[in-house]
Amino acid sequence: MFELMDEWGPEKVVCVSDSRTGMRGVLVIDNTARGMGKGGTRMSPSLSVAEVARLARVMTWKWAGVDLFFGGAKAGIRFDPASVDKEAALRAFVRLLSNEIPSEYVVGLDMGLTERDAAIVQDELRSRGAAVGTPAELGGVPYDQLGVTGFGVAEATDAVFPLAGRRVVIQGLGAVGRAAARRFVELGASVIAASTSLGAVHDPSGLDIDRLLAVPDDSAVPAYAGGEHLPLGSELLIPTDVVAPCALQDVIDASLAARLSCSFVVEGANMPTSVEAQQVLAARGIPVLPDFIANAGGVVAAAYAMDARLSPFRPDPAAIYATISTKLRANAQTVISASSSAGTTPHQAARSLAESRVRTAM
Ligand code: NAD
Repeated sequence: MFELMDEWGPEKVVCVSDSRTGMRGVLVIDNTARGMGKGGTRMSPSLSVAEVARLARVMTWKWAGVDLFFGGAKAGIRFDPASVDKEAALRAFVRLLSNEIPSEYVVGLDMGLTERDAAIVQDELRSRGAAVGTPAELGGVPYDQLGVTGFGVAEATDAVFPLAGRRVVIQGLGAVGRAAARRFVELGASVIAASTSLGAVHDPSGLDIDRLLAVPDDSAVPAYAGGEHLPLGSELLIPTDVVAPCALQDVIDASLAARLSCSFVVEGANMPTSVEAQQVLAARGIPVLPDFIANAGGVVAAAYAMDARLSPFRPDPAAIYATISTKLRANAQTVISASSSAGTTPHQAARSLAESRVRTAM
């Protein structure tokens, strides 16, 4: 947490807790130089203030990287799903938080929250604020349903590492990984391995995406008949063209980076690669497309969702996909070419692009 107390932020950290539900929550508003703080709310049994602060900083760079006028923020709710009513915990969080910071933060979705949860947030807020990510029937842009983040991960990759005929390994078949898998295949790649928190599956001739994605999230890999079933984590070491971590942070450290057998890494998840790992991969000639460039499809859709709240017109999903494709492809190309001309890692190039925009606003 304290390593993040620097020139950029955080501007505000608000902790709330509720003894009735056992909920503990935190909101970190990192930097609002370019606009009000917006970032998803993560709900998980294990979550720290430091983790939420790191994610809020990623949001600062993500909004600036995609050149949209919001600031970096993130919220986290720690709760025990075995003993706590999730809806009650979420309502307590929203109520306590909106008493502390009326309308300074817009709640959106992150890991552990669904469109139904966004509807609960909106119901709890009523006129005191806004949630984005609500179902279409409630006037929202259902960006999880549209798979916008995963769509953008594959689009950004294709712009700098054309996917036709390539092989891709995906870690994490949740909201991001599933949509990415679908788009990788549409763009001509084959997905040869995938994992969920339960295990991994590998078929060198390509997994059957329709069958793989037909089964629900966490049962997807064990329920998939065919291919070779592998122990968790081993999928990342399979020889392939692209590795796409789309589950957790901190999964590729320097030692794993030295052993990866691929030509390109795209960060679908937030912060899956350590700084040391990025350097090891750069020295091996393997570019890593940074999270806040590759997975910014969700924020582009969230910006549409913010506009939709103020307008009677629903945005056309085709327009959302087209904007994501155009913006993320251009950004990926800018970052990869800036990194090769400056001799830096793509992360350093992306960070300096985002920093310069935030600094100008500050
Ligand atoms: P999710 O909860 O829908 O899916 C996570 C997936 O990861 C699940 O399928 C789970 O089984 C899998 N998983 C968990 N542990 C694993 C392990 N050890 N090995 C392999 N798989 C494992 O979450 P999501 O919304 O897809 O988010 C995934 C990541 O992408 C997170 O880092 C999140 O912050 C980031 N992200 C999400 C969005 C979004 O729009 N949902 C946007 C930007 C970034």
